[in-house]
Amino acid sequence: MDLVLFGPPGAGKGTQAVRIREQLDVPQISTGDMMRAARREGTPLGKKFDEYMSAGKLVPDALVLELMKERLSKPDAAKGAIFDGFPRTVAQAEALDELLAEMGRKIDQVVVLEVPVEDIVDRVTGRRSDPTSGQVYHVRYNPPPAGLEVVQRKDDTEEVVRKRFQEYEANTMPVLPHYDAKGLVKRVDGVGSLDEVTERIRAALGA
Ligand code: ADP
Ligand code: AMP
Repeated sequence: MDLVLFGPPGAGKGTQAVRIREQLDVPQISTGDMMRAARREGTPLGKKFDEYMSAGKLVPDALVLELMKERLSKPDAAKGAIFDGFPRTVAQAEALDELLAEMGRKIDQVVVLEVPVEDIVDRVTGRRSDPTSGQVYHVRYNPPPAGLEVVQRKDDTEEVVRKRFQEYEANTMPVLPHYDAKGLVKRVDGVGSLDEVTERIRAALGA
């Protein structure tokens, strides 16, 4: 099963991917998480990612596709994946089709989490995570356990999230017609409790 979880920054893609991955028995592949890991290692590539990420701009396709090629060659991704935050441009979507075709696979479903922009700013600026486990929380909607030291992403400011949303509208929304033409897209209301949204996704997937 190859599933694309699609939606604006802060829509809840990572949160929901973690909730459905066990049932689907495939890993979550988040290009954002992979880039943050490279940045933490301080590699030249990580530094390059940081230039774009800090400004809320998309990382160039060639760099993202290199990462994805390597990730898809890992054994845990042999049966499928939940793609979270990828593809973000039409060129990435076309390249993903080719990569999967070489493995005898294709995107089976695309779920779009729809969340209005003002909710997005609220969600992103309140996002915190556990640096050890990577578990994502929200200061109000999904508060971390008392005493847990959490951190905030440096691109989770109001200014940068508005820029990221503009990038989404300009470069990422045009990916949807690519999948719509194949009849793969299911739109899901992303506003509601975490459990409600998970149930809507399960219903959309028929899972
Ligand atoms: P994405 O992966 O799409 O960028 P996240 O899953 O990291 O989004 O969610 C962004 C923020 O919104 C996090 O702080 C998360 O805890 C919170 N969040 C996720 N789903 C919901 C929801 N249904 N209602 C309120 N807040 C949510
Ligand atoms: P995310 O963790 O999905 O919110 O992504 C954080 C940032 O990483 C984005 O604002 C981009 O700078 C970069 N990024 C993540 N995934 C991609 C992608 N598929 N294409 C281009 N840039 C990406």
